[in-house]
Amino acid sequence: MRLKLTWSFALLAALVTVYIARTHATPALGFVGTTLALGRFGDIDASNYQLAPPLNPGVQPWLSLQKTKGQSDVYVQNNVWQPGGHTGWHTHPGEEVGYIVTGTVEMAIDGRATLTLQAGDGFLIPPRTPHNARDVGPGTGHMLSTYIVEAGQPLASFTGEPDDR
Ligand SMILES: [Zn+2]
Repeated sequence: MRLKLTWSFALLAALVTVYIARTHATPALGFVGTTLALGRFGDIDASNYQLAPPLNPGVQPWLSLQKTKGQSDVYVQNNVWQPGGHTGWHTHPGEEVGYIVTGTVEMAIDGRATLTLQAGDGFLIPPRTPHNARDVGPGTGHMLSTYIVEAGQPLASFTGEPDDR
């Protein structure tokens, strides 16, 4: 009897979770993302650096590290919004690095100040961080993004709007 009650409670909790996720998810509106390229990579271990002064006077220090363990899917994606369109709150199972080609896009990122991005502006979304990109018009918003994500995982998962917004 106790086991049946436990399973019933677990089932009820799962159903409530699914209901909340569906009713509070923020699906895309006026937004289309098209995959331009997709490649699968093994371990990535790359380091790039510029020596800083005093070893190399006049050069600004620069350091870039990319390291993955296990297979990764790397996507190049063309993202287009109609005026006022938005992606809906979502996450990726890895980093998103992108830039705005045309238009003005408001990028809301959970736990950070909202960015207003113009043509030529770049951005980085950390792994599994809820965010929502919205075209603020007046024209069509166009963005190119690259994603380095865990292989075989969905590129994006809708989430609800974070509670702190
Ligand atoms: Zn995204």
